[in-house]
Amino acid sequence: MKDLIENQIPYQVEFKIRKEDTKEIRDIYSTATYDSEQHVVFGVILDVTELKKTEEEIRMLGNAIHQSPSAIVITNSSGEIIFVNSKFTEMTLYPFSEIQGKKPHIFYPGYIPENELKKMWDKLQNNGMWKGEYLNERKDKSQYWTAVTISPLFDKKGGHCNYILVMEDITLKRQLREELIHAKEKAEEADKLKTSFLANMSHEIRTPLNSILGFSSLLSNTDFSVNEKNDFIQRIKISGENLLAIVSNVMDISKLEAGQMKILDSTIQLYKFIQDFYDQYLYKVENLNIDFQLDANINEQTFIISDETKIRQVLTNLVENALKFTQEGYIAIGVSESRSNGHITFYVEDTGIGIPEEYHKMIFERFRQVEMSETRQFGGNGLGLAISKNLVEMLGGKIWLESEFGKGSTFHFTIPKQIASENKN
Ligand code: ADP
Repeated sequence: MKDLIENQIPYQVEFKIRKEDTKEIRDIYSTATYDSEQHVVFGVILDVTELKKTEEEIRMLGNAIHQSPSAIVITNSSGEIIFVNSKFTEMTLYPFSEIQGKKPHIFYPGYIPENELKKMWDKLQNNGMWKGEYLNERKDKSQYWTAVTISPLFDKKGGHCNYILVMEDITLKRQLREELIHAKEKAEEADKLKTSFLANMSHEIRTPLNSILGFSSLLSNTDFSVNEKNDFIQRIKISGENLLAIVSNVMDISKLEAGQMKILDSTIQLYKFIQDFYDQYLYKVENLNIDFQLDANINEQTFIISDETKIRQVLTNLVENALKFTQEGYIAIGVSESRSNGHITFYVEDTGIGIPEEYHKMIFERFRQVEMSETRQFGGNGLGLAISKNLVEMLGGKIWLESEFGKGSTFHFTIPKQIASENKN
């Protein structure tokens, strides 16, 4: 610089000096220009320390905004976009050039209710900060959730000169939150079901046990005739069978859930199988006000390879339910063969109490019953259909129902004519 001054060469320089008195380091800017006679026509020496500090601060703030992990939008006082950072473009797929001068609601099309928008503006006008969670739309129309914070920025006179929007993509967070709520509700529901199952079970087990204990003690009483005692024995037998059925159900659902139920396949002559099954129920319905029908839409040459015990168990569950929930009308058992896909379809139809639509899927879950109240009219433990669904699926089929509340129900299930090797364990 000494050379520049001595040779009177125009210059513009920045340098640092240390002040003699305070030893403080200051930034200095100096410039000089000369006329043709080498006179200085313009010369300044400025202390630019504060200016440089401010510049550094602005650069740092700029970097913070540009590199922020949140999307940032700055609007002018009319709410028109004047700046977005790169995270914003990454999140919304809108480049700045496309949204410059537009209002931010272009990326919330229709998802913020009018009244909420009004509340938001009122709050901002009163110098408050606004926070909300909104469903947004990217440029490619895909949707995502954001948590948005909007705050006004003030000019020197205290007026609003800008608004700043900070947006965070919370789609995943919301999803996790919803999954957690769902899991919590499911756990609470399962707990309720278990409590009601235990209450039912206690009732279902105590009733036949009391009957067994009561009638067996009467057997030693000589006041009763042989006929009466035979009746007691019959009641003890029925109660014993009921108990056995409950224990078997509990064992079956445990085995199914532990994946320990085995398939034993054999060749089944379908016509004989369904006829025998039907005949076995005839005596049971004899004294009921119900017409019991068989609709075997197959010929005697229809053979299938499947697990006979499991098919019988499903049919038994369905017919027992039909008998339990039907007071009058008819119960029909049907079987047919599909020409197109080689599946066999069974059905059990009744004219009983029917099942409300909202339960059609649910009742296949274990412990589920339409009637869950303490004052239940019908017995049962809510395991039959869960077991049936599991068994049918093990055989490679599907089970479903059609029912109208108050009119009756039809349960259908299909199984393949030949059980697939991957279904065997
Ligand atoms: P359970 O009969 O022991 O209660 P299930 O799993 O067999 O258990 O049936 C679950 C529930 O589905 C029953 O409690 C009943 O509410 C309803 N349900 C099943 N079959 C019928 C039917 N044929 N008619 C009316 N409701 C039925």
